Amino acid sequence: MTPDASDSLRGRPLYPCGQPLRQLPRPAALVVLGATGSIGRQTLELVTRFPDHWEVVAVAVRSRVAELTDLLTHLAQIQPTAKPPLVAVTDEAAHAKAAVRGDLGGRLLPAGAAALVAAVTAPEHVDCVVNGVVGAVGLAPTIAAAERGVRIALANKESLVVGGELVRAAVRSGGAELLPVDSEHSAIAQCLSGRQPEEIEKLVLTASGGPFRTMPAEKLREVTVQEVLAHPTWNMGPKITVDSATLMNKGLEVIEAHHLFGVPYRDIDVVVHPGSYVHSCVTFRDGAVMAQLGSPDMRVPLMYAMAGEKRWPLAAERLDLLRIGTLCFEPPDLERFVCLRLAREAGEAGGTAPIVLNAANEVAVAALLEGRLRYVDIASVIASTLAAMPQGSVASVTEALAIDAAARREAEASLIRLVRNAT
Ligand code: MG
Repeated sequence: MTPDASDSLRGRPLYPCGQPLRQLPRPAALVVLGATGSIGRQTLELVTRFPDHWEVVAVAVRSRVAELTDLLTHLAQIQPTAKPPLVAVTDEAAHAKAAVRGDLGGRLLPAGAAALVAAVTAPEHVDCVVNGVVGAVGLAPTIAAAERGVRIALANKESLVVGGELVRAAVRSGGAELLPVDSEHSAIAQCLSGRQPEEIEKLVLTASGGPFRTMPAEKLREVTVQEVLAHPTWNMGPKITVDSATLMNKGLEVIEAHHLFGVPYRDIDVVVHPGSYVHSCVTFRDGAVMAQLGSPDMRVPLMYAMAGEKRWPLAAERLDLLRIGTLCFEPPDLERFVCLRLAREAGEAGGTAPIVLNAANEVAVAALLEGRLRYVDIASVIASTLAAMPQGSVASVTEALAIDAAARREAEASLIRLVRNAT
């Protein structure tokens, strides 16, 4: 996409800015994708807290069958009169394990990535889908939910990074309602309450800066996986924690924000805010700045999305301004955190570039977690994959996923070359 095309997006956000949200029935039929992950568990916590509002009709997990069993037992207790939910297990081996248990009967959907889509399409009735899946695999179920015209509480940022334009088209044609769960985008959505898109001048995404915010470049060469996984403020899954340490997470969020709010890249700033109290801000065209503050608790943005921007009572930790005393902000260091720069450039290039960026990052992060790649080499793998892959446009989900697969192969090859040259 050219910067001009990007400009034309202003005023046409994917997020239903300034529009009334639909009233869901009570209980609302809920699908939880990534049900045993960080977002999924917190979704189930909210269902437990507000059992009259929700009826879980399908859950999808990758491989944690033991945790799935506990989850289903728990659901049977909190929604005793409801039909037991459909169950998707995407990992083949884990699916085989789930199938031999027998008690899932006809409720177990076929294995593979298609199971995520089936979890959205197979239930008789669906009102809301929480997509808490990690990675590009989350795109197809987001599209399916968009086509089904339901409310999507989106925590899978790759849906918009990999398929921003495709999701936009599917949401429009299906009449769906897409609400962000990511804390920064939820903060922006909260700041936009009652506003019109044309009133926005600038978005400011805050970043905690991760565990290496103040670490000198030469020290970054030696950091261990354990240090990478020790995030200072948020408690999240391993993939997103690594992304937070490289600031790739913020880069992906810039792309996500561009699609969600229809704001050109040059008007999306990133500011490092180590306390993570300010979750993000909007500057309006009259100069007023709105910020959303709170303790870092994902249940707040999650519930805001699920409940259609209603504020239900929640025992989240209250922010004590006097205890905080000072709010600190600093610019991100793009020399040390190359991933943030790469993500912004890929977003501005548009087309296949964000898909390649994301695929290479997923490969590099998996290699880091397996102990095959150093932290500092993540950016090198992404940069060389972006340089090797041809740039073009993307017309369908199938095409997007084919580019994703090709980029993964290229990233793996580049990773092997890099590791070989280093030894
Ligand atoms: Mg975030």
